Amino acid sequence: MTSLNNILDKACKTHDLEKEEIVELLNSDGKELYKRADEVRKEYVGDGVHLRGLIEFSNICKQQCKYCGLRSPNNDVKRYRLEPDEVIKYAKKGADLGYKTLVLQSGEDSYFDVDKMCYIVSEIKKNDVAVTLSIGERTREEYKAMREAGADRYLIRIETSDKDLYKKMHPNMSYDNRVRCLKDIKELGYEVGTGCLVGLPGQSVESLSGDILFFKDIGADMVGVGPFIPHPKTPLKSELNPKNFDMALKIMAITRLILPYDNIPATTAMETINPNGRMIALQSGANVVMPNILDSEYKLKYEIYPGKICLNDRGEKCRGCIEAKINSIGRYVAKDKGFRKHKANSDKD
Ligand code: SAH
Repeated sequence: MTSLNNILDKACKTHDLEKEEIVELLNSDGKELYKRADEVRKEYVGDGVHLRGLIEFSNICKQQCKYCGLRSPNNDVKRYRLEPDEVIKYAKKGADLGYKTLVLQSGEDSYFDVDKMCYIVSEIKKNDVAVTLSIGERTREEYKAMREAGADRYLIRIETSDKDLYKKMHPNMSYDNRVRCLKDIKELGYEVGTGCLVGLPGQSVESLSGDILFFKDIGADMVGVGPFIPHPKTPLKSELNPKNFDMALKIMAITRLILPYDNIPATTAMETINPNGRMIALQSGANVVMPNILDSEYKLKYEIYPGKICLNDRGEKCRGCIEAKINSIGRYVAKDKGFRKHKANSDKD
C-alpha cells in the first residue's frame, strides 16, 4: 500500500513513471489510482467535457485487423459509404447541434482519395469547427495535403506498442509504418491522437505499460483507450475477457497522470461493456466524449465490435442525452473547440 501511494505521489508530482511502477499500478485494484487521476484531471484540464461529433462515413476497409468486425474478409457486413456531399451535410448538422469538433472516421477506403478528403475537410471547415480525421494509414504527402486543407487533428491508435503482438494482430501491416504515420502527423502540426486496445490475446501487463510510455514518447495530445470486445465474425471471436474494462480504465487513468494536459476520451467501447462506463471513465481521468451523429441506418452497419450503444437513436437525441449525464456528475459541456491545453497558455483555445 505504501509503495502504491509512493508511486502515485511520484506520478502526480513528476508525471513520469518507470515501467515497473506502471506494472505495479496495473496490478493494484485501481481505487486510489482512479481518485488521483480524477484530481489531476480537475487540476489540469478542469471540469469541462469536450464533445466530439463522430461521423463514421465508410465501413469499407482493405485491412484485415484480426479484432475488427470491419476487416475486409468479413463478408457478412453490409458495406456503405457516404458520398462526400453527404459527409459535409452531416457535419453541418453536427455543427448546428453545437459540436465544436467533428471527427471523420472510416475504414481504409481508397475511394476517399486525397482530393476527396481535402474537399470534404475544406467544406466542413467553413462551419467554424475543428476537424479530426481518423482514416488510417496514408502517405506523408497525403497527410500534408489534408492538413493544408484545414484538418486540425488526426487519430491513429498504435493499438499495441508490442511489436510481436502488433504483427500477429495486423496481417500485411507494418508496425514501423504505423509509427511513421504518427511521426509524420506530429511533424505536420496536427494534434496527434493515439491509443491502444486492452485485452488482446497474448497482451501482458508489461506490454500495456509499454503502451503508456509509447504515448508519452510519441508526444500524443489525445489518447483513446478501449477494452477489446470480441466480434463474432473475426478470428478472435472467443477471446472475451471480463477484466478488460478495469484494465482499460487503469491504463486510461495512468495516462492522465503521465500526460496531465492531454485530451482523453471516455470511449464508447467502455460503455458497451459497462452500462455506466463513460461516466465512470469521466470520473477516473477522462475529459472527452465522442457521440455519434449519424442516423441509425449507418450506425448499425459500422460494427467494429458488437453491442455498440445507442444504435437506434438519432444524432439529436445523443447530444441531449449525453449532456444530461455529464451534468448529473457535476461536470459541464465545454463551449470551446477543445484543443489540448498547454502549461503556458492554458486558457487559450
Ligand atoms: N481505420 C481507422 C479507424 C479504425 S476504427 C484506423 O486504422 O485508424 C477505430 C478503433 O476501433 C481502432 O483504432 C481500434 O482500436 C478500435 N477497435 C477495432 N476493433 C475493436 C474491437 N473488436 N473491440 C474494441 N475496439 C475495437
